[in-house]
Amino acid sequence: MNLRCLSCKRTYPYDTHRWRCECGGVFELEGAPGFAQDEIETGDFSLWRYRAMLPVEHEKGIISLGEGFTPLVETQVYGTRIHCKLEFLAPTGSFKDRGTAVLVNVLRELGVKRVVEDSSGNAGASLAAYAARSGIEAEIYVPAHASPNKLHQITVYGARLVKVEGPRERAAQAVQEAAAQGAYYASHYYNPFTLEGLKTIAYEIWEQLGWRAPDNLVLPVGHGTLLLGAYRGFKHLLAAGLIERPPRLFAIQAETCAPLYEAYQRGLGEAFPIEKNETVAEGISIARPVRGRQILAAVRATGGAVLAVDDEETLRARDELARRGLYVEPTSAVAIAALPQLRGLMGTDETTIVPLTGNGLKSQAKGD
Ligand SMILES: [Zn+2]
Repeated sequence: MNLRCLSCKRTYPYDTHRWRCECGGVFELEGAPGFAQDEIETGDFSLWRYRAMLPVEHEKGIISLGEGFTPLVETQVYGTRIHCKLEFLAPTGSFKDRGTAVLVNVLRELGVKRVVEDSSGNAGASLAAYAARSGIEAEIYVPAHASPNKLHQITVYGARLVKVEGPRERAAQAVQEAAAQGAYYASHYYNPFTLEGLKTIAYEIWEQLGWRAPDNLVLPVGHGTLLLGAYRGFKHLLAAGLIERPPRLFAIQAETCAPLYEAYQRGLGEAFPIEKNETVAEGISIARPVRGRQILAAVRATGGAVLAVDDEETLRARDELARRGLYVEPTSAVAIAALPQLRGLMGTDETTIVPLTGNGLKSQAKGD
């Protein structure tokens, strides 16, 4: 296995501590194991049932908090029947645990003792938990305005919290400076090992639907790691001859911070940085998605679309979902808020999956 730059195609060894290419491009993991149905560990009800398909060499001593294998629950919202994938039931309350679990196990194999990360909350909490579990020291750079519940969660796990004033991007700059001083940058959006963990959501959906792919996957998108991870998983299933096609990918953004939506509308292949405004969907408030080109290509290749919703629609969708017993943070609700717009694009007999990405208990009760 190697890390390959998506821009200039240069390769780096698997154990490099570089977090991106010299040219500034992002890495992809090359030579990762594909999908093999007969290698599923059917007695393991976590994502480690797919351990043979993950880039972790040593099976013994895997660090796990029981992540993955989240329930699929049917409901109807705005007249559309959907299957909700309850990712908010993950050990730290968000889908990020899939990527972090695999990343941290790779880092243990590489002998990494100290990591830095920037996050608006969920990825930081996830890394803090898995770092605690594995004895790795973690330092998390967060925007000072992030949800206090999330910041509290990070510190209780024992990670060092560095609050950075200003927009989300300032935390990213600060962490890159720390990485330049020698810390391993365990970025949930730059690091390709997180996508390997996230691909397991596709495998699970396929198993839970009775060994078939859904027609549509609707999800909130900021850096788009869950979308790209899921796409990777479905492509592996396709390559194994187990599905006919990947689901159509519908990427939903918050209107006040929608660089991918802007690019999609203009028919562009890459997102350009935008001036963003505040949104209740803090988890996807990303002005410059570093894998924008990949996301737009995946959406177009599957016949999906990028849509945007406003905060009022998002909060209403959060409430609609809660009236059905499912309590999510506003970021997760953007996917539900887009269902009325999607009605014309999806058939009534189609299977539509909406991953519910983050727990409502993480959000602030006031002001969201
Ligand atoms: Zn490069």
